Amino acid sequence: MNHQLPELSYSYDALESFIDEKTMKIHHTKHHQGYIDKLNKTLQGTAFEDWELNKLLKGLDELPDKIKTSVRNNGGGHANHILFFGGMSPSGKKSPEGDLLKMIEEEFSSFENFKTEFEEVAGSHFGSGWAWLVKAGKGLEVYSTGGHDSPVTDGYEPLLNLDVWEHAYYLNYQNKRGEYISNFWNVVDWDEIEKRFEKAKK
Ligand code: MN
Repeated sequence: MNHQLPELSYSYDALESFIDEKTMKIHHTKHHQGYIDKLNKTLQGTAFEDWELNKLLKGLDELPDKIKTSVRNNGGGHANHILFFGGMSPSGKKSPEGDLLKMIEEEFSSFENFKTEFEEVAGSHFGSGWAWLVKAGKGLEVYSTGGHDSPVTDGYEPLLNLDVWEHAYYLNYQNKRGEYISNFWNVVDWDEIEKRFEKAKK
């Protein structure tokens, strides 16, 4: 199996003015593609060539030392960017409803409180990494991972993620990570996040 770059369901300029066209294009065609190329190169000729992405990330400890770090970084990079780009849209629902909203309210007392907690985690993460909303067991959790570490490796189901690597925002926001983070809510596609939640419930 050759891992491949999924196409975006929207154009590179669709998330303007919150995420600019140039950032989106470089992020998707250079950064994300770069992780895929390195992952494919790492797996080439090994017994793990046909493993699905999530199987690789869940089974990191089963991999030989020779490829483990590269799969962790580049496989994680590939998986995290699929979720990130796929979780945004110019036209998605701007807040959750139904069972997901109910659970967010149970866990964080309100949708507003959840957003505040998510922003705090994203804003205080030191260096490159990701902020996450995950399904953890029967509940929800907000946390961050360093590098491209995946919640799948931790046994969680990822629902929503925000890339806080500088490459995700630096062209437009420079040092203003907080502004990038608070603008994220304008482009989250809650229809998609609800779909992930429904799948994770099963
Ligand atoms: Mn990125």
